[in-house]
Amino acid sequence: MQIVVIGAGYAGTYAANRLAKKTDAEVTVVNPRGHFVERPRLHQTLSGTGRDVTPLTSMMRKGVTVRVGAVDKIGDGVVTLDDGDSLGFDHAVLAVGSSVTPMPGTVAVGTWEGAEQGRARLAALGPGAWVTVVGGGPTGLETASEVAAARPDLRVRLIGARIGEAFGPQVRRRVLAALAGLKVEVVEDTLTAAGDGFVRVGSGRELESGLTLWAIVSGTSDLAARSGFTVNEEGRIAVDDYLRSVDDPRIFAAGDCADVPGARFACQTAIPQGARAADNLIRLIEGRPLRPHEFRYLGICISLGRKDALLQITHADDSPARTFFAKGPAVLAKETALRGIKVGVRMGVGM
Ligand SMILES: Cc1cc2nc3c(=O)[nH]c(=O)nc-3n(C[C@H](O)[C@H](O)[C@H](O)COP(=O)(O)OP(=O)(O)OC[C@H]3O[C@@H](n4cnc5c(N)ncnc54)[C@H](O)[C@@H]3O)c2cc1C
Repeated sequence: MQIVVIGAGYAGTYAANRLAKKTDAEVTVVNPRGHFVERPRLHQTLSGTGRDVTPLTSMMRKGVTVRVGAVDKIGDGVVTLDDGDSLGFDHAVLAVGSSVTPMPGTVAVGTWEGAEQGRARLAALGPGAWVTVVGGGPTGLETASEVAAARPDLRVRLIGARIGEAFGPQVRRRVLAALAGLKVEVVEDTLTAAGDGFVRVGSGRELESGLTLWAIVSGTSDLAARSGFTVNEEGRIAVDDYLRSVDDPRIFAAGDCADVPGARFACQTAIPQGARAADNLIRLIEGRPLRPHEFRYLGICISLGRKDALLQITHADDSPARTFFAKGPAVLAKETALRGIKVGVRMGVGM
């Protein structure tokens, strides 16, 4: 039995390890690079405050084969790689994550390549230079505060139409206060253009910018679409309640690339989906009934530099509850969660 897992992020790595642990199948993971990227630490990579890469082989259980390359197309029981090679499969798990489409003139924060490029560009900036971070969601907030805390000699600006809207009013006020404390200039507007040394916003204002960072994650790889699978408007592959492709019952999908109702792009959603997809694939192989994917949100936690963070507790549907934690307890919660999920993903356990 050949199982191909496409993408070795949180969902794919978890699924591969679970499958290797619980089946005798030959599990092959295809990923464009030979290391595991902790995407939630990419703003740290960029700011030079943390590492985010681990050799993929050390993330995989014994028995999982790592094939470095990108899948170009998924066909009838076969995947074609960008180097022309192909791998046959009895079953596959699609876990290619989400993608970033940076505006020209900006550098993407949400990909490893972009974060590495941003790190080099940031390091080259001299005191007093402006860094503009685009995106008022969690990635933008984390990036602006991380850069501002790591490089107090720079001037940092955050541009977003609705900054911190994922949070309740109390937490949003706390986020804005933290940004002010780090001297981050907040511009509630949309970016309309970015070029050499400047950005322009919707109001028409042109602002100086030595480096413009695109901190918005939107959409997913077009692999599923160009392979002929049903996708939604974000390019996420259509799956049934069991995380199985509605077009090919041999294929499961998990993580940011899967069109699971109510699931935002997050490790918090990707890992349980990786676990459910693997468990249902095991059930399918063993001839047992599949189980529907069920999920409830717990919270949303953002770092605000290395010394501050906010943990907003959420209701099951992801709407903000009244409870939140800040400073030390939230910093600890964030770091413990990131370390804990990495261990869980490596072992294929904990879900
Ligand atoms: C700065 C930042 C901070 C974040 N913070 C948090 C947080 O605090 N909490 C949280 O829950 N989430 C956070 N997220 C979101 C989280 O990182 C993602 O939702 C999560 O990584 C999704 O996991 P995944 O396995 O679906 O995809 P990914 O982790 O993106 O993995 C997908 C893998 O598939 C590979 N791939 C892509 N195309 C192909 C192909 N054609 N062939 C083979 N492989 C392919 C990719 O290279 C990648 O290795 C953050 C994201 C960013 C950018």
